Amino acid sequence: MRAAGARELLRRLHDVMAARTPVQAKLDQVAELIADALESEVASIYLLRDGMLELFATRGLKQEAVHVTRLAFGQGLVGTIAESRAPLNLAEASQHPRFAYRPETGEESFHSFAGVPIIRRETSVGVLAVQHAQPRDYDEVEIEALQTVAMVLAELIAAAGLLDDRTAGNGRAAREAVSFRLQGLKLVDGQARGIAVFHRPRMVITNTVADDADVERDRLASAFVRMREEIDAMVSRAEFAGPGDHDDILETYKMFAFDEGWARRINSGIDSGLTAEAAIEAVSQAQRIKLSSAPDPYLRERLHDLDDLSNRLIRIVSGKLGTAAELGLSADTILIARNLGPAELLEYDRRFLQGVALEEGSLTAHMTILARAMGLPVIGRLKDLREQIAEGEPLLLDASGGGLFVRPAQAVVSNYEAQAALRAKKQAGFQAIRHLPAQTLDGTRIQLMMNAGLRSDLPALDLTNADGIGLFRTEFQFLVSATLPRKGRQIALYRDVLKAAGDKPVIFRSVDIGGDKAVPYMVDPDSPEENPAMGWRALRLSLERPGLMAAQARALLEASVGQTLNLMFPMVGEPWEFDAARAIVEDRRLRLQQAGIPHATGIRYGAMLEVPALVEVLDELLPKLDFISIGTNDLTQFLLAADRGNPKLADRYDWLARGVLRYLARVVTEAHAAGVSVSVCGEMGGRPTEALALLAIGVNRLSITPAAIGPVKAMIRSTTLAPLQAQMAGWLKTPGANIRALLLAAASEQQIILD
Ligand code: PEP
Ligand code: MG
Repeated sequence: MRAAGARELLRRLHDVMAARTPVQAKLDQVAELIADALESEVASIYLLRDGMLELFATRGLKQEAVHVTRLAFGQGLVGTIAESRAPLNLAEASQHPRFAYRPETGEESFHSFAGVPIIRRETSVGVLAVQHAQPRDYDEVEIEALQTVAMVLAELIAAAGLLDDRTAGNGRAAREAVSFRLQGLKLVDGQARGIAVFHRPRMVITNTVADDADVERDRLASAFVRMREEIDAMVSRAEFAGPGDHDDILETYKMFAFDEGWARRINSGIDSGLTAEAAIEAVSQAQRIKLSSAPDPYLRERLHDLDDLSNRLIRIVSGKLGTAAELGLSADTILIARNLGPAELLEYDRRFLQGVALEEGSLTAHMTILARAMGLPVIGRLKDLREQIAEGEPLLLDASGGGLFVRPAQAVVSNYEAQAALRAKKQAGFQAIRHLPAQTLDGTRIQLMMNAGLRSDLPALDLTNADGIGLFRTEFQFLVSATLPRKGRQIALYRDVLKAAGDKPVIFRSVDIGGDKAVPYMVDPDSPEENPAMGWRALRLSLERPGLMAAQARALLEASVGQTLNLMFPMVGEPWEFDAARAIVEDRRLRLQQAGIPHATGIRYGAMLEVPALVEVLDELLPKLDFISIGTNDLTQFLLAADRGNPKLADRYDWLARGVLRYLARVVTEAHAAGVSVSVCGEMGGRPTEALALLAIGVNRLSITPAAIGPVKAMIRSTTLAPLQAQMAGWLKTPGANIRALLLAAASEQQIILD
């Protein structure tokens, strides 16, 4: 359907609905208009009444079916569309598994079927469907035309009083004034208490059909200018945890805001007769549907950013500004939203923001990465959240268990308060030993370093007084960027890290991308991986893309002027891989030398031990190394063949399994005998009991998450190591020994602080 045709259809729809005729007559005419415009034999309008989708009007199906055919959400094709809020486009309707034949409609003579949801306030309130006798696929333009019509219909139906807002899938009626708990997914750990503040009740567009397309185009153009200014201002605002990281994140945001393709699509909506607001919403709805079915989770996240921007643009264009951030927070707040973009989160006054609860959200979303950097607990995937709670309700968010308590009972609040007091007390205890060395009671000094990956992690170095950064995950910068970070950005980050560390050592790890840390610009869409953790990732990927590795090496070398660069490679599988990686770095060093460009005075090389077979060739590898770092997250999952991310295998993924500890003990002994320093940089080292086991097998360097430095230091300072090492040696040789139980008993005897 050409733009002029679409415009004409919208106009006529508008006229029909504005006329002083009975509602039923209007809907009948609308069905006629749509069928004519789309040259379809059938056009039907289903509307939600008393929780069922009822056929309200049709051209082409039997009239006896009107107000008789009724389908529940999820039932038949119409119910499926309403439930999923996504269109269906079928050449042969009866082959769809949800097809439910309704004899009263006489629809057996029609084969093809296309339907779109009629959505209001993000809820399906009906379905608009067309059918043809001949099997055919509807093209994208036709589906988009149907969506546009459905959007206008939603407004017109509401204006005609045909929509009872209470019937619009609102689960709130079921809600009693009792407390209840919603289960979601922990995105950022922590606990928080506050009142529910809705980020933004979604704007309801009340004017969809435009009088003058030129006026709408101008409104849109000025809104784009204003939005781009706002984004630029946000990028340059320095109030975020540390300057820099959000530049990378907002880069994606900017990419969309300045994307001419997006503006063009909105303008073509305006050409077809929509107001600027309606055209933005139409494009956004189409995107939302696309994103929810995108196979790549990273891509899905990026499209959330686009959704975030659409909302912002609608608010600007309609002059109806006012997110909760703009209105200003005044009390402890748990922010409620379907999803949040990174820039939206940055607009909030951090002093009042205690936590975030989302209907969507994921661990890899930019917003999640930001919230983690800000120390803000977040729960995601809370289904129908905004339907179940109301603005201003008291909430208690317990991210560790993924639970959101609504109007929490007194017992829950008391429990929370007791836990908070305990945490504060413990925290104060850790602060008190901040300046004391991580040394056992019998004098063994343990190097206690921290893991980092973002600029915003750097202040933790000072707060925890860690001995350095034992693992800097350089891939984080790649993960939060829309494109490969340029050399300048890489150098700037590495310089900032080294500056923050001062005299303390920093061990950089070359990028570990691929697998679950996929970045869109490096993904090979033609070869999805069945076992990404054992797939094309880390050093394997880097060696196949030597340009990437060389560029990173150069950035690291240039950032390390006047000092030694500590560099390790992830997932080394065989010694030759280490040699190949080292050769790339050495080649870069030589070139910098020849070009007279200042760079590091020396390089200390290390390898991550994560691939089990490497241990069988340590005799060959160790002489080449200055240090080795054991990545117990990956190594354990490979040793025990138990996926580190699978909650069902949590018991099997046991760091204290005798097999794992014996294996680690062997590595430590061999490395120390060869004069190579060993550290453990996996999560294992951040748990006091597991860290105690590591000490007992001879590990004296740990690199752990900053929050664990206090608890692990408290453990170290309360341990007498020598007898424990002797005990451990015995346990490892004892068949059937339950090391965890033995260790806990020994710790209790020694009064070692384990939490
Ligand atoms: C590990 O595998 O233990 C490790 C530290 O690397 P990552 O968690 O980044 O895979
Ligand atoms: Mg790893």
